Amino acid sequence: MTKTILINIDKDNIDTKKLKHAAEILRAGGTVTFPTETVYGLGANALDINAVKKIFEAKGRPSDNPLIIHISNYEDLNELVLEIPKNAEKIINEFWPGPLTLIFNKSSIVPGIITGGLNTVAIRMPAHPIAKLLIELAKVPVAAPSANLSGKPSPTKEKHVKDDLMGRVDAIVCGGDTAVGVESTVLDITSDIPMILRPGGVTKEELERIIGRVEVDPAIEGTQKKHLIPKSPGMKYTHYSPNADVILLSGDLEDIITGIEKIRKDKEDNGYRVGIMATDETKDKYEGGIVISLGSRSNLETVASNLFKVLREFDEKNIDVILAETFEEKGLGQAIMNRLIKAAGYNILKV
Ligand code: AMP
Ligand code: MG
Repeated sequence: MTKTILINIDKDNIDTKKLKHAAEILRAGGTVTFPTETVYGLGANALDINAVKKIFEAKGRPSDNPLIIHISNYEDLNELVLEIPKNAEKIINEFWPGPLTLIFNKSSIVPGIITGGLNTVAIRMPAHPIAKLLIELAKVPVAAPSANLSGKPSPTKEKHVKDDLMGRVDAIVCGGDTAVGVESTVLDITSDIPMILRPGGVTKEELERIIGRVEVDPAIEGTQKKHLIPKSPGMKYTHYSPNADVILLSGDLEDIITGIEKIRKDKEDNGYRVGIMATDETKDKYEGGIVISLGSRSNLETVASNLFKVLREFDEKNIDVILAETFEEKGLGQAIMNRLIKAAGYNILKV
């Protein structure tokens, strides 16, 4: 057990002295969780192998799942990468700081433990004021995966971080709910045509508006065929799993509602506690089960920001089976569906 200190910071009125304490822990080789605009991160000095090891231990993360390095300025980028491709500058100017991670060829100072032995490195400049200032004060690049136990839904609230990592990290910086709610988009820019390896906070459509054609790793696109091996090592792992079994229903919305009702009755007759992950438009159409709405279908930002919180809420209510509606894989819908499909372990029922 590690003694975890809690540091409360108001993101709109940051107490620099308090945040400096967290930065010193990072500099000294400790682990600190902190809010970013996507989800909470679990950080350590990216250039200190022993510190990075503590991230893997605290999360129970497989050692071949590489980490994203978070930076606060462009000098750090130059030191961490071999070269900055031409199209990268346009992307960086448009989307950094923000929820977009870029894959570069790595420089020799990046330890292999960060990249899972790959020659490439994932880098992001977060926009959240606490994350930005913390990294700046630490004066080191900060490796930071999501601050959850491996396999669990990513944390979007302080409580989620405490539930998963109290006693496992040196400090928890509490800074309110995260805004985007799904992780960053991971974009590989080492090839001529950039490729999305993980859909996230920045959409394919937004990227294409700035840089033209963007590909999506076929292993994560569309129906997400289980047999394809994703290019991003971490994408092969079970993710976002609540304790309950998750079943997704896809098809026309009316058919989804009918399908969910049918399975709900059947499951409840057999003694299961059923949760229904619904939307504002549908939530009143279910006649039983514990119904939680993700928000309106016309506001995917809200749906994304509520997704992980709602998955965890069903666990708190000891639900056995979650029946979930699905979304069109367009815009932010691509990231939402990617996370839902992972949460369901590819358990999708076409109705
Ligand atoms: P997390 O920090 O838990 O949100 O996960 C980081 C994601 O970035 C995982 O899916 C990793 O596989 C991916 N990633 C990190 N480094 C690389 C890299 N060099 N090449 C491809 N994907 C990477
Ligand atoms: Mg994660």
